[in-house]
Amino acid sequence: MTFEGLDGSGKSTQLRKLAQWLEAEGREVTVTRQPGDTRIGELIRTLILDSRTENLAPKAELGLMFSDRAQGIAEVIEPALAAGRIVLCDRFTDSTEAYQGGGRQLGSELVLSLHAAMCAGLQPDLTLLLLPDFERSLTRARARNTRSASRGKDENRFEKEDEIFYRRVWDAYHQIAIRETVRVIAIEGDEGIEEVHQRIVERVKQRLGM
Ligand code: C5P
Repeated sequence: MTFEGLDGSGKSTQLRKLAQWLEAEGREVTVTRQPGDTRIGELIRTLILDSRTENLAPKAELGLMFSDRAQGIAEVIEPALAAGRIVLCDRFTDSTEAYQGGGRQLGSELVLSLHAAMCAGLQPDLTLLLLPDFERSLTRARARNTRSASRGKDENRFEKEDEIFYRRVWDAYHQIAIRETVRVIAIEGDEGIEEVHQRIVERVKQRLGM
């Protein structure tokens, strides 16, 4: 299963809560994220996010995303799936379609063809796409970035992008939700953390036959 959404959409909080819930139900869960998580992935994540790589070309960024993903699949996801574990991944190819395909305007076709080639078509059984109010997500992401900067942490290059960039990402996520009606469950609106968690649990129960 994957969690998707704009920065500040609350996806990582919801992923953690679902992992705890599944574990309490006796399921074995592997939590991972992209970009990052493996040692090579963390190096790639730094290359992608560090503000010193400001002039990274969009297609170079796209290639790095898929390098990270190929490493994560080989090192974390495939072994976990082979061991019968439930894998919860914080961002996957939908993020690449939204940010690089939409935000960077490289287009969905290129992203999806790279996915087919690099990920052997591996698809999540279920994708929870969190789509709260656009303005609120952006404000939350920016506030988080300001807090990180005030703690001396390096800025995330993407959080400096303008609203037009994020609008394109947002639109691309909506297009994915319209296209992938079986795999993707879009959770819209601005309910509280607990309410959203309950909605996710209901959907997961249905999907896993629990
Ligand atoms: O969700 P997380 O904080 O790990 O994402 C890190 C950053 O990388 C986010 O700002 C996100 O916008 C960006 N990103 C991206 N393209 C992806 C995945 C993440 O631009 N395919």
